[in-house]
Amino acid sequence: ARAHGGGQVAFFEQSMGEHARSRYTLQRELRHAISDQQLELYLQPQLDADGRTVGFESLVRWHHPERGLVPPGAFIPLAEESDLIVEMDNWVLEESARTLARLARAGLAQGISVNLSPRHFSQPGFVDKIRTLIRRHGFAARRLTLEITEGLLLESLGAAQEKMATLRQDGVRFSIDDFGTGYSSLAYLKSLPIDELKIDQRFIRPLPGSEEDGALVDGIVSIARSLRFTVVAEGVETAGQRDYLKRYPGLLQQGYLHGRPMPAPQALLPLLEPLAT
Ligand code: C2E
Ligand code: CA
Ligand code: CA
Ligand code: CA
Repeated sequence: ARAHGGGQVAFFEQSMGEHARSRYTLQRELRHAISDQQLELYLQPQLDADGRTVGFESLVRWHHPERGLVPPGAFIPLAEESDLIVEMDNWVLEESARTLARLARAGLAQGISVNLSPRHFSQPGFVDKIRTLIRRHGFAARRLTLEITEGLLLESLGAAQEKMATLRQDGVRFSIDDFGTGYSSLAYLKSLPIDELKIDQRFIRPLPGSEEDGALVDGIVSIARSLRFTVVAEGVETAGQRDYLKRYPGLLQQGYLHGRPMPAPQALLPLLEPLAT
């Protein structure tokens, strides 16, 4: 273990198993991907009950020079093991902000939701970073929604909440992603500085056939409504699910039925095209 430089890298790679080696390689390549423009911003539309696109979720894609398109599930968890995730999310934030500025210039009202790893909240200067981003790109703060998972709220409740509350005063929105899959208590909900709940696709998928899942969705929506949260249903894939969910006025829908995640320019086309003619 006394090797230096490149030798040290070789040593580590040899001493690790096949699985560990490929994950180490992947992490190194991902670091390079951020600076080498191998990442691409995809957007998936979110629709209101009348079928209008009211916003988008940013989802990152990695075009690996040899492996081709690597799905987020294969590299986000690796990136989350280190501050690499912060770098990657910063890239997504920057691209999303650029897109928001473009929407604003076109006179369009849509917002964008960005996934944020819990690690950001322990980074010094997080609040300033978001504020600077908004100011630099010149869009209204309420157009930006930051999606966080329940885990964060349990891990670092106090510190994270304070930062969220500060940004929220500026107008930034906060959304709880994959709601219903974590262990957070319903009691937290009323005191959290949040604006939105996203119902995980595992509750949406069995609809409309499953009475149990119907009851759970019903409960989540009614709690959310009384707390004045927006609710987004994730993973809407069938007309049956779409029509079932229409019973909830104000509920937003996201899923393959309404639109797959697409490269940003392609996702924006249906909104920008009518303006160009
Ligand atoms: P997520 O935040 O829950 O994102 C929703 C995932 O569901 C996306 O997978 C999306 O493509 C997929 N999806 C959307 N509609 C449907 C549908 O109708 N059916 C099915 N089966 N799936 C649907 P994706 O893009 O592969 O991303 C996976 C996860 O990776 C995301 O889950 C999120 O946790 C993470 N992720 C993606 N982009 C970013 C990012 O920029 N930053 C961070 N920190 N995480 C990201
Ligand atoms: Ca999300
Ligand atoms: Ca989700
Ligand atoms: Ca997720």
